[in-house]
Amino acid sequence: MIAAKGYAAQKAGATLEAWDFERREVGPHDVQFDVLYCGVCHSDLHQVRNDWFEGIFPMIPGHEIVGRVVKVGAHVTKFKVGDLAATGCMVDSCHTCDNCKDGLEQYCDNGAVFTYNSKNQYTDGAPTYGGYSNTIVVKEEFVLHVSDKLPLAATAPLLCAGITTYSPLKHWKIGKGHKLAVLGLGGLGHMAVKFGVALGADVTVLSTSPKKEADAKKLGAHHFVVTTDAEQVAKAKGSFDFILDTVSAEHDFPLYLSLLRTNGVHICVGVPSTPSIIPPFAIIAGRKSLAGSSIGGIKETQEMLDFCAEHNIVSDIELIDIKDIETAYERMEKGDVRYRFVIDMATLK
Ligand code: NAP
Ligand code: ZN
Repeated sequence: MIAAKGYAAQKAGATLEAWDFERREVGPHDVQFDVLYCGVCHSDLHQVRNDWFEGIFPMIPGHEIVGRVVKVGAHVTKFKVGDLAATGCMVDSCHTCDNCKDGLEQYCDNGAVFTYNSKNQYTDGAPTYGGYSNTIVVKEEFVLHVSDKLPLAATAPLLCAGITTYSPLKHWKIGKGHKLAVLGLGGLGHMAVKFGVALGADVTVLSTSPKKEADAKKLGAHHFVVTTDAEQVAKAKGSFDFILDTVSAEHDFPLYLSLLRTNGVHICVGVPSTPSIIPPFAIIAGRKSLAGSSIGGIKETQEMLDFCAEHNIVSDIELIDIKDIETAYERMEKGDVRYRFVIDMATLK
């Protein structure tokens, strides 16, 4: 086993603290890389707090991981020692079901293995531990290449916030001629704005935070609507082809559905801890669709990383010391993120 260091919650809701643990040895198909930076996703906070389901503890969160390869297994062909490497939300899947064959490992019929808070049924059955740690061992197929042209710390959030917003934009072919609303300007939301603009859509940010307007415009958004201002909301009624909903907390679905045009699609990527009730009339009138999307497959994640290298797209980040993770969580909970915290893993030493 490989001795590793990380920051873990020992039980649900516990403060994250330093914890020594072990990773599996590097197998013939594995890549080991030292973690240089790891992004902080709202999903980390949801899972540490058991917001969605009973988690596996101790829990080391983190699924926006970039670093440098230190060891490769005998059968590894795509990575060598010294290469940059990255891993997102998944570390394994069955590879045999229709979804895996279609490059949709996130929807694996036999269950994808997530980077943390999961058990790897395809290897040793042991719990997985995420990127708030000094080193990680991942099956080669789930390791991505990142460009050395982009700043590495700001690349980390692409592995979740990036792919989670890129994938639905591509799936629904959102671009020129479409009015896209991005609901919630946080980690995912700010990446959705960048991708929406790069793909040619007319982008509006729908936000509860009036103070984010200037930032939204700097990110490239064409319009900004404060969702707590009834007058601004009334003007936006029936105007969007798509809403990409990145909100992490309970919110008013019928209100946002009313902002869609006929045939409009409201795409949920945010995962509040409480279920919402949607009155059928909110979608019947105007033949609207309520849809969802989860991260993205491995092939598409690589495509997104290559797109970012080509278009010079990275996340806007605040680089933090791992000791400040709890303050980052508190700020994230208040919507005070500009626009992704990234842990400098050198501070773990
Ligand atoms: P984040 O950085 O905290 O951003 C969430 C944003 O939602 C906030 O900045 C805020 O934006 C808005 N918001 C918060 N509370 C709200 C409320 N009560 N009503 C309306 N808006 C509110 O979080 P994130 O990391 O982007 O993650 C967002 C959500 O996506 C989380 O639930 C996360 O678990 C989920 N997620 C899903 C996937 C997937 O595969 N589907 C992947 C990653 C994350 P404003 O200040 O602009 O209102
Ligand atoms: Zn995430």
